[in-house]
Amino acid sequence: MRKLVTVLGATGIVGSKALEIVRKNQEKFHVIGISGHSNISLLVRFALEFAPKYVVVSNLLLRSELEQKLNNVDVEILCGEEGLAFLASQKTDILIAAITGFAGFEPIFRAINSGTDIALANKEALVAGGHLLMPLAKKKGVNIIPVDSEHNAIFQCMMGQNWSDVDNITLTASGGPFLSMNSNETQKIPPSEALKHPTWSMGAKISIDSATMMNKGLETIEAAWLFNIGKEKISAVIHPQSIVHGIVQFKDKSIISHMAPTDMKVPISQAMAWPERVKIEIKEIDFLEVESFNFLEIDASKFPCFELAYQLIEEDPCYSVALNAANEIAVHLYLDHKLEFGDIYTLVAKTIDMIEMTNLDDYQSIIDYDRYARNIAISMKF
Ligand code: NDP
Ligand code: MG
Repeated sequence: MRKLVTVLGATGIVGSKALEIVRKNQEKFHVIGISGHSNISLLVRFALEFAPKYVVVSNLLLRSELEQKLNNVDVEILCGEEGLAFLASQKTDILIAAITGFAGFEPIFRAINSGTDIALANKEALVAGGHLLMPLAKKKGVNIIPVDSEHNAIFQCMMGQNWSDVDNITLTASGGPFLSMNSNETQKIPPSEALKHPTWSMGAKISIDSATMMNKGLETIEAAWLFNIGKEKISAVIHPQSIVHGIVQFKDKSIISHMAPTDMKVPISQAMAWPERVKIEIKEIDFLEVESFNFLEIDASKFPCFELAYQLIEEDPCYSVALNAANEIAVHLYLDHKLEFGDIYTLVAKTIDMIEMTNLDDYQSIIDYDRYARNIAISMKF
């Protein structure tokens, strides 16, 4: 039986790779719905190729363009946040959550509610709403399979293992493009430099997060929610070769780690096909070509965003909603040349200092609080 698949954020790097896996494994997967936000030409191409039942453009302004281009095609076209929520609510076998940022939170909430398993790339949704999404997934019997490479690595290391036997886990980080530079050198560095990731090809937002290492901070919060473990069991190290993606140490001091080529098709396909695997064709690791394996400490003075996020594990969820919201604003301003690289941290830290706490125990309160924190971040002057 083919798995029915929905791909949210189909036009992005992760979404496109998920569709490439479908393309090569048509006997295993069938696409029911796809979404995109601004890239209409790619969305149309995918709609024609995969003939899904539903196509969603979340940007309302592009509705008529999509309708025009799919005029004679037998497909249901939906738009805006409502369209996205509708698509996410359609029960399928697996939903690839590959929207970037908090925009992916509501669709994931809907999908879990409808009982669909999630292959989760969209870490921001879990950073902001993990305290709601994970218990809901448990209640609904929904599997959340990590796509983020480090978390997928830990997931794979834990196959056949018990969490009660685990001493700690380690996430690896490439170190981003500025590993050998100090904060004075990076303070005014332009987006064109920050977007050049040394080992991974990724969307703009996560590329900037990797340069500040906020990405690794967000990932420690993501790990805490995904694996239901405390801060004392989670750490991160820089591993510039990006070959080892995650490491688990057990109470008998055995260590199981996961290695794979630096290509997101590995974790995406594993999450999509789980509990099976599919064949993918990418360049294999040749160990004779690997000169060395290095593991370095993350320098908190150089990468304060990492430390800021890491400190928020197990703290009140208001902090991580605000962290994520302010970071999205800061990255956006930086990409628009309206904020300096070095001020991304300052904007996020100041926002967190200014928030007032409230209860975030339901879905709407998280949405409202994200907006509240964004407004604080936007009002900040530099
Ligand atoms: P991209 O920027 O390449 O893709 C983002 C996707 O989200 C696109 O389909 C985009 O549509 C859509 N989108 C953007 N804004 C909105 C919005 N407001 N509402 C609905 N949809 C929107 O990002 P990536 O694929 O690189 O990353 C996606 C997610 O996966 C992120 O959360 C990231 O952290 C995570 N991730 C990515 C990895 C990678 O290697 N790329 C690795 C691990 C995690 P359009 O392009 O049409 O505008
Ligand atoms: Mg990652």
